[in-house]
Amino acid sequence: MVEPERVPRVLAIDDCPMIRGLLGRHLRHEPMELHLAADAATGVAMARELLPEVVLLDVHLGPEGSEGFAVLAALQDDPRTHDLSVIFLSGSGDTEHRVRALDRGAVDFIGKPFDAAELRARVRSALRLRRLLSMLAQKARIDGLTGLWNRAYFDRRLDEEVSESIRYGRPVSLVLADVDHFKSINDRFGHPVGDEVIARFASILATGRASDVACRYGGEEFALILPGTSTDSALEVAERIRRRLAAERFGGREDLVVTASFGVADLASIEQAGTSLSLVHAADEALYRAKSAGRDRVYALDGSTSRRRVI
Ligand code: GH3
Ligand code: MG
Ligand code: MG
Repeated sequence: MVEPERVPRVLAIDDCPMIRGLLGRHLRHEPMELHLAADAATGVAMARELLPEVVLLDVHLGPEGSEGFAVLAALQDDPRTHDLSVIFLSGSGDTEHRVRALDRGAVDFIGKPFDAAELRARVRSALRLRRLLSMLAQKARIDGLTGLWNRAYFDRRLDEEVSESIRYGRPVSLVLADVDHFKSINDRFGHPVGDEVIARFASILATGRASDVACRYGGEEFALILPGTSTDSALEVAERIRRRLAAERFGGREDLVVTASFGVADLASIEQAGTSLSLVHAADEALYRAKSAGRDRVYALDGSTSRRRVI
């Protein structure tokens, strides 16, 4: 689930060719990718494209020498770039600009003419902070027991996927799954075994396509967002998971067989205005029917069940 680490990117925006040359030379051997922009507009465009971790920004940018702060504001106003770290490059006597830059959210400044070792140390320090912050943000979206996306992330992501689906006319399906008689698993085998069951189910859910979004919805309930997938394929995906879970053995305990029930809903098959909430309701209703029909099965709201396809 954790996003793969990439070589950090640093973007330097400075209109002076000599400064860009110096930055390139001084940072050449650092473990980072350095990109250079010579004016404000190019710098902002490159920041949106590259999403660098750190931006080195000339305070006196542009012909009037006043565009540095405008670039900072443009980066902060754009949700794609608003949290990247900006280090201002300023003349050494420029206290007023330094104070203003820090007050407006720059993480640091480096005085010109810069000392090569200090430049490298400050860039490394900004990159370190950036990594810690993104690890923290990542943690806030991940469920601790399973490593799947958590409920808060699910809510946000489903909203996004539903909007995308409507905008581009692309299907999206939702699978809700609930472990059957989980309370009695806890009662018979104890909570640690219950936890192991949850973790194992999560690992089965996580083995789908890279575009599938596997989440822990709550206790022993899981959600799988399937972008680009309609009911029939979603039923097949859920059925594959159902069978894998039922075949799973837990530490050689022959008497522990775990099953789950699944509800499938497809945004296109919802009659009222398709919203993420109506999609959750539809999948929940299908799940309820799967439970009522005897558990250990996959249902879609239009009454179709994976069982027909299994035999
Ligand atoms: P059904 O087949 O109708 O779904 O029955 P059920 O027993 O699975 O349903 P119920 O919702 O009554 O029970 C869910 C249980 O899951 C109750 C709760 O104690 C347990 N549970 C929730 N979160 C965790 C967890 O993180 N670890 C463990 N071990 N148990 C949990
Ligand atoms: Mg439940
Ligand atoms: Mg349950």
